This record gives sequence, structure tokens and C-alpha cells, in this order.
Amino acid sequence: MSDESFVCPECDTATEKDDVNVSLWEAERLVLIENVPVRICPQCQEQYYDQETRLEIEKLRSRGFPLEEATRVVEAPVFSLPPRNPR
Ligand SMILES: [Zn+2]
Repeated sequence: MSDESFVCPECDTATEKDDVNVSLWEAERLVLIENVPVRICPQCQEQYYDQETRLEIEKLRSRGFPLEEATRVVEAPVFSLPPRNPR
């Protein structure tokens, strides 16, 4: 993926660089990764990681996201949406 002019394959719009926080579930554990460089499509909001980023995340995953390498640990509140009435 070219760094400067990556066009969204979904809708053919030029993407923009940004940094985001990624959350993912690894088994029963929620893992957060901060400041992940992405390209975001302003049209369809699709996010794309470059090869290096995917590789780094994959490396962390293959090592089981070792807790001793975490920058910090956060506590997160969990919400449920109210049950819906059948229509
Ligand atoms: Zn798009």
C-alpha cells in the first residue's frame, strides 16, 4: 500500500492518515492498542492498516499480548443496551 496516495478500494475515495486506538478481544481478554497509524476513508469510514502495522499487531498476538509489555492497564465499564420489545 503506497503511503501517500492510498485510494479506498470500497468506494474509490482518497484516504486520509490518522492515528486510532484499536480494541480487540483475545480469548476472554480485551486488549487495547493506542496510536495505531491507519488510513481512513472519509466517504465510507473504512480503516486500513499498512503491512508493517498488521505485522506488529500479529507479532503481539502471536506472543499472547504479554501483560508485562503493556504500557498501562485500564479498567473499562461495560454496558448493555436495553432489551427490545417484540414488534
Ligand atoms: Zn471508502
